[in-house]
Amino acid sequence: MRYEAFYQQSIDEPEQFWAAQARLIHWESPPQQILDQSNPPFRRWFVGGTTNLCYNAVDRHLVERAEQLALVAISSETDVTREFSYRELYWEVNAFAAVLRSLDVGKGDRVVIYLPNVAEAVFAMLACARIGAIHSVVFGGFAAHNLALRIDDAQPKLLIAADSGMRGGKVIPYKPLVDAALNEASAPPSQVLIVDRGLDPQMTRVAGRDLDYAGLRRAHEGVEVPVVWLESNEPSYLLYTSGTTGKPKGVQRDVGGYAVAMALSIRTVFDIAPGQVMFSTSDVGWAVGHSYNVYGPLIGGATSLLYEGTPTRPDPGIWWQLCERYGVHTMFSSPTAIRVLKKQDASWLKKYDLSALKWLFLAGEPLDEPTAQWITDALGVPVIDNYWQTETGWPAITLMPGLELKPTKFGSPGLPAPGYKMKVIDENTGKEVAAGVKGVLVFQPPLPPGCLSTVWRDDDRYVHSYFSHFRELLYSSLDWAIRDEDGYTFILGRTDDVINVAGHRLGTREIEEVVASHPSVAEAAVVGVRDELKGQVPIVFAMLKQNAGADAGAVALAMQQRVVDQLGGVAKPSRVYVVNALPKTRSGKLLRRSLQALAEQRDPGDLSTLDDPVALDDIRRALERGPDQGS
Ligand code: ATP
Ligand code: MG
Repeated sequence: MRYEAFYQQSIDEPEQFWAAQARLIHWESPPQQILDQSNPPFRRWFVGGTTNLCYNAVDRHLVERAEQLALVAISSETDVTREFSYRELYWEVNAFAAVLRSLDVGKGDRVVIYLPNVAEAVFAMLACARIGAIHSVVFGGFAAHNLALRIDDAQPKLLIAADSGMRGGKVIPYKPLVDAALNEASAPPSQVLIVDRGLDPQMTRVAGRDLDYAGLRRAHEGVEVPVVWLESNEPSYLLYTSGTTGKPKGVQRDVGGYAVAMALSIRTVFDIAPGQVMFSTSDVGWAVGHSYNVYGPLIGGATSLLYEGTPTRPDPGIWWQLCERYGVHTMFSSPTAIRVLKKQDASWLKKYDLSALKWLFLAGEPLDEPTAQWITDALGVPVIDNYWQTETGWPAITLMPGLELKPTKFGSPGLPAPGYKMKVIDENTGKEVAAGVKGVLVFQPPLPPGCLSTVWRDDDRYVHSYFSHFRELLYSSLDWAIRDEDGYTFILGRTDDVINVAGHRLGTREIEEVVASHPSVAEAAVVGVRDELKGQVPIVFAMLKQNAGADAGAVALAMQQRVVDQLGGVAKPSRVYVVNALPKTRSGKLLRRSLQALAEQRDPGDLSTLDDPVALDDIRRALERGPDQGS
């Protein structure tokens, strides 16, 4: 079917549309009502239907594809590759579920999972889903404080953790972080299940609290655990947002709606048919990892590649080597990762046979044109930018090559996905703006299946955070956007990333785009700082390309001039600092609020989500040293 007709039906006749999509999954008992909208902005999908995520991801495939690969967990850190067919996955998940039950974990109990990208993370998630326990995966790169915050919010009965992770060849012991987090937490779980990878010989255990998974697994191997059927709207899992803009929110997902959204999107968005191979480079701790490393490909009967390691070790060809070896059909990564590869030689991509590869999807942050162009040229396949949030659980704006490939446009993730009643509205009047005019990206309720059902144990925060920004009841994405004549949407940054220069409102992203278009610039961050005269002025922090051999002062001057030429004098950056690193969160998002605080000589605030604290020291030094352009 053509995209337009498909999308339009999802908006005009949502109940018919989603009733048809619901047939993509197994229901133990069918839904009695497709959509309940009696209490907006809350909505319930597939009311009364019972199903189970694990059954749909594993058991259902045993008839037709038991011997097909389901999961391949590759670690370029430990140099270990583990392959699991659907049959093997079934037994691993059952053993894990039996262990959970032996620890008295049951329906509705929370389980926090603090594991790196190892196969056991997938087993643990599916085992929770099987018995109706609610998992909450915490990204393994988060520090003790982040873990403690999430533990206190989720109040788990059990914590599952690894002895260690590894990054860039270095062992990162997790257990000391777990101990510190449990000390800090006010409601720590009484049991910790340890997946011991044998990476940390010094690991200590707390008697009576810390249990070894390997031993328990042996004791439960071969046990089959019955599936617990859940009503479609019961919670399946919690996932905390990245916390780029403040305290992370516990996004709560349902069961039936999420399963249907996964089944629909893996086929129509990601173009994955049963038996095909999907390689998402995400961490299981992110939304992409949940949806397109675990639930999406497995519900779709595909093979999922899970990768632990960096894109450049043992060499920058590693991802393409895996694409060749497994015949990857669809790859999914982030602009940050591609920018890392872009610093390397493009010849790494030419060394491997990538003829099976059809699409590269990128999401999570703006995809700048130079990066999009570079990877498109290097790969020779369409690169598809897609926009989503932890909250949506699947792409909200994307192209859908599994249905019909529309032309890509650089800088735009494309068109709304089914069920997303998208609008771009004026922030003051709440009225829809014309094509080409900037406004706030909103979704009109009901949110489609797969999107969050609420904020964990905080319905008020759900309503207040997302639906209270306009007179009309609308979900605010808190991102700026422009829609062009063809309906393509361009994301212009977050609504809190706006600065006000002498009464003119400027988006920091727009200035960043112009600055980053300079051939010597690798990446740039723009923030507004207080100014007595103008209220605020933009200042630039820019990283130059390695080996650019450029003179920092000259490039800084050229950046300033480019902004004046393209955006006008009001947008002129009053200072330009050339730096070695920019502060980013563990998910690769720029921490502008910390940059801005430092530039205004304020406390940089909560830095616990910061990837590399060294980046901030570099910013501090640059600020002390003075700008490379301006004064
Ligand atoms: P928090 O909500 O806790 O502050 P966060 O918004 O960074 O954290 P995520 O849900 O991981 O957490 O990120 C979603 C945001 O990422 C979007 O709102 C948008 O700003 C940005 N984003 C995601 N995909 C794209 C894309 N393709 N283009 C531009 N921006 C994107
Ligand atoms: Mg957000």
